[in-house]
Amino acid sequence: MIERKIKKLVQAQTMSEGNGATVHRSIGLRHLMDIDPFLLLDEMDIPDSAVNVGFPDHPHRGFETVTYMLSGHMQHKDKSGNAGDIGPGDVQWMTAGRGIIHSEMPITGGAHLRGFQLWVNLPAEKKMIAPRYQDITKDRIPTIEGDTYTATLIAGSLNGTTGPVSEIAIAPLYMDVTLTENGEATLPIPLGHTAVIYGIDSEFTINNTLVPSRTLAILTDGNNVTISGEAGTRFLLIAGAPIREPIARYGPFVMNTREEIMQTLDDWNKGVFHNAS
Ligand code: MN
Repeated sequence: MIERKIKKLVQAQTMSEGNGATVHRSIGLRHLMDIDPFLLLDEMDIPDSAVNVGFPDHPHRGFETVTYMLSGHMQHKDKSGNAGDIGPGDVQWMTAGRGIIHSEMPITGGAHLRGFQLWVNLPAEKKMIAPRYQDITKDRIPTIEGDTYTATLIAGSLNGTTGPVSEIAIAPLYMDVTLTENGEATLPIPLGHTAVIYGIDSEFTINNTLVPSRTLAILTDGNNVTISGEAGTRFLLIAGAPIREPIARYGPFVMNTREEIMQTLDDWNKGVFHNAS
């Protein structure tokens, strides 16, 4: 068994995204545009008092967006009539495929909105598939009780249980883990898959290296990782198979070539996205 260590630490940068929404971005920064197969990781942070703040109508093509809420509610609407409310503990795994236009707006007057949005790349053969939603409410997400931790398992496998997100190209592992006692937890990660860990209001150590809160730890390859910290330490562990294809990226469009991006912009200008699904 090979123990994963820290390859790199990347401190999240606080910035404004959409219409005045604060995000703490780690993957997707200029010096960390992607870690194959992941294209972006934002910790969303929108106070209760915010008015008209959020992510109004915008398109996506060629990848997937994964929204996981910690607190507050996000209302989602697309141009094909899909709509829903993503609440605390809920997940939406949206495969944009050939294109969607949607809005993601906090329900105002609710709790402080906190959550994560992860962008997951699609391989060339799936970039133009029909859009698909996996809307998964908290009650469908299993909790795994380990010796020293509890984990909510959104995608992938842990201790013989498999999370509810299915049929995703990169075979993702996505879990929200809390240490239940002072000490350490060892978690399996498929060998060869890209893996990152991100503390949620928590700091911890991996192989004696401190990972501060709001910092992304990119791991070396291996079969498992051991996280040490105090009881209550909470973090996301996300992993997936690398795609190993060229990336051509322009804002919310992620294709393989510049020509495909030009075609996408042409489609966008012609209104093709309004009928994509
Ligand atoms: Mn979006």
